Amino acid sequence: MSWPENRTPEHLLESDRAAGFDISADFRRFSQMNDVFTRAFWDKRVRSKDSDAFFASYRMEAAPRRGDGFTQADFALRNASWLISDMISERNAAEGEREGFQAPIRSSVPVADIQADLGGPADAAANIKRVARLFGADLVGITAIDLRWHYADRPDVREMKPVPNDLPPGLTHVIVMGHAMDFGLVETYPSALAGAATGREYSHEAAIVMQLAAYIRNLGYEAVASMNDTALVIPYAVKAGLGEYGRNQMVLTPEFGPRVRFSKIFTNLDMALDAVKPLGMAHYCQDCTACAAACPVKALPFGAPDFGEEVASGSPSTLRGVRKWSSNAEACFGYWTKIKTDCAICMRVCPFNRDYTRAADRLWRWLARRHMGAAGVKLARWWEARRGKRARLKPSQWWARGH
Ligand code: SF4
Ligand code: SF4
Repeated sequence: MSWPENRTPEHLLESDRAAGFDISADFRRFSQMNDVFTRAFWDKRVRSKDSDAFFASYRMEAAPRRGDGFTQADFALRNASWLISDMISERNAAEGEREGFQAPIRSSVPVADIQADLGGPADAAANIKRVARLFGADLVGITAIDLRWHYADRPDVREMKPVPNDLPPGLTHVIVMGHAMDFGLVETYPSALAGAATGREYSHEAAIVMQLAAYIRNLGYEAVASMNDTALVIPYAVKAGLGEYGRNQMVLTPEFGPRVRFSKIFTNLDMALDAVKPLGMAHYCQDCTACAAACPVKALPFGAPDFGEEVASGSPSTLRGVRKWSSNAEACFGYWTKIKTDCAICMRVCPFNRDYTRAADRLWRWLARRHMGAAGVKLARWWEARRGKRARLKPSQWWARGH
């Protein structure tokens, strides 16, 4: 497997087709230097007093306080929710590695000398999925390693300079895990309180991905734990059959809609691959623009997917050469820096963001996913329109709910 020859490897063609991936000849691997969060440290087009204050607000002495959702308790909960993730990402920053975000997570567990026999690939996949769920993963899928989605380079965070984005040789499989965000907290976006839904899952996934990697290494196989670092996780999640890509730049999953974060493990353990699944969700985006309409800075597209031409002009933060919906990353991040916390209004307002413990919401999903064909989708759209605009839960109401 090699890249960048700008040719899809033969063995990935079929799953690309199943996933609806359309990749043009001018595709290039994405440099993580151009990720908008990385640019906020080196690119004066993104870096500002507001962006510096945004990052500083994750320390209490710099957290602003101004009203419902932005009180000391809201920031305190958000910042505390990030704690475990922060401990991992900061522990080797002095050596240039911000683990979990701009470098893979280092393992303290050596690979065992003897390789355990887990049976065939199907048994090995079942074993790993069982353990992943034991550690707390909400979704698990397995797909083939695909270097197209690996960053062309990654930043050394000491000087924000690009360095090679290398993994150990011989890795073949990727375990993709989904981590569901708390429904009630997400209902309060935008607020510092809602940011606790994000931080909580980063802390969860840091623990889960490290534990599962340690398990695999104890079995005698290489395993590299990864969160947002090393590779784009969205195409991997789609290929692992966990969801479909939506207009809001998120993976829409049947279980949680867009309310999921993803982590991954690169390994040489041979496991049965999951197939791309036609989940009947992304089609809904063609005639729904709820996320784009709700975005306060209009950073999401209203039109059809394209190769990133519209937003790519002048923006290095757009992945080029893949037909998809693309956001204006600078506008989106600019809004985050203004409110001093992450925004996910486009997650909150998505019709697929529902509490599926409720029968009515399961029925809506069943209709929206085309189980009754076009007539069912039409009914789902009518139902959604009748439900009206998705109101934000006031953060003070979230606190008042009690246990
Ligand atoms: S996160 Fe907020 S600002 Fe960014 S695209 Fe979504 S709604 Fe817009
Ligand atoms: S809000 Fe509508 S258009 Fe946006 S991701 Fe959800 S279903 Fe798709």
